[in-house]
Amino acid sequence: MLQILDGTVVRDQILAGLKPRVHRLPRRPGLAVVLVGHDPASEIYVRGKIKACGELGIHSEKITPPETITTKELLAIIDELNHRPEIDGILVQMPLPKQVDSRRILESVEPGKDPDGFHPVNVGNLVAGRPAPRACTPAGIIEMLKYYRIPMDGRRAVVLGRSDIVGKPMALMLLQENATVTICHSRTMNVAEECRRADILVAAIGRPAMVTSEFIAPGATVVDVGQNRLVNRADAVRLGKTEEFDRKGNILVGDVHPVDVAHVAAAYTPVPGGVGPLTIAMLMANTVALAERHLCSG
Ligand code: NAP
Repeated sequence: MLQILDGTVVRDQILAGLKPRVHRLPRRPGLAVVLVGHDPASEIYVRGKIKACGELGIHSEKITPPETITTKELLAIIDELNHRPEIDGILVQMPLPKQVDSRRILESVEPGKDPDGFHPVNVGNLVAGRPAPRACTPAGIIEMLKYYRIPMDGRRAVVLGRSDIVGKPMALMLLQENATVTICHSRTMNVAEECRRADILVAAIGRPAMVTSEFIAPGATVVDVGQNRLVNRADAVRLGKTEEFDRKGNILVGDVHPVDVAHVAAAYTPVPGGVGPLTIAMLMANTVALAERHLCSG
């Protein structure tokens, strides 16, 4: 029987644990969200983040510079936020317009105000196993695996994908949980064979339903990070999502084939409703932890 790992339950538990911590603080934690331009997907993500702040009693500010902003002008905005004591976290919504040097911007955020855990100092802290903000999506996956008591210690984990925001930090976090970790990417030979060795398989490649039954060991736990929107009805039929397609005109699918996984795996994070809900919850957790650190160190 396939166990569905429901991300909404884990999210609710994370958020419920944060509420009393927020109330105990002498002031509200503060999160500044910088959203450049009008990318519709980014606007939806930012709206979700601001809403979550409101529900938890976290002060949030949305800063919306124009699409034409230069790197220098954006650096000045970040510098001001870095100096404001009531702002604990600064989130720069990606992607930034082409003329802006994204790397310089991310590196200009004070590491102690980096709720995304993307700053190289915080990546280094993760490598060294020191407490620091950690990339939200993989950190949420670790919380989910712990919540459902999926053993990681001594188990074989394969991470499919090596991006800076998911694959690499995911591999490091699994290593810290004493898993034996393999990272696969677009140059890996015999990817399916590598994946089939996994007790825990994390797919983060952005390739709709690429992970079929030949990638999955019987009894494995499969974590599907992918978020791919498909607009072709034939794809929906093939993936067993015809009803959803006929209702909405499109479907959201992960990187794992939703029909195949049910035949082989022991546990699986569905798309939607698996990993997706955890990312904002971990952003809130990181913001509260940063505020606690700022307020405790005076
Ligand atoms: P990304 O930056 O595009 O990285 C994709 C990775 O997959 C790369 O390392 C790439 O290898 C590898 N890859 C691509 N095609 C492959 C193939 N055929 N075989 C093996 N490896 C392959 O993507 P990302 O930002 O990590 O995101 C991955 C997926 O997760 C996307 O669908 C994204 O929407 C989703 N996502 C979801 C959340 C959430 O909250 N649920 C958060 C973040 C991302 P190379 O390095 O060799 O190119």
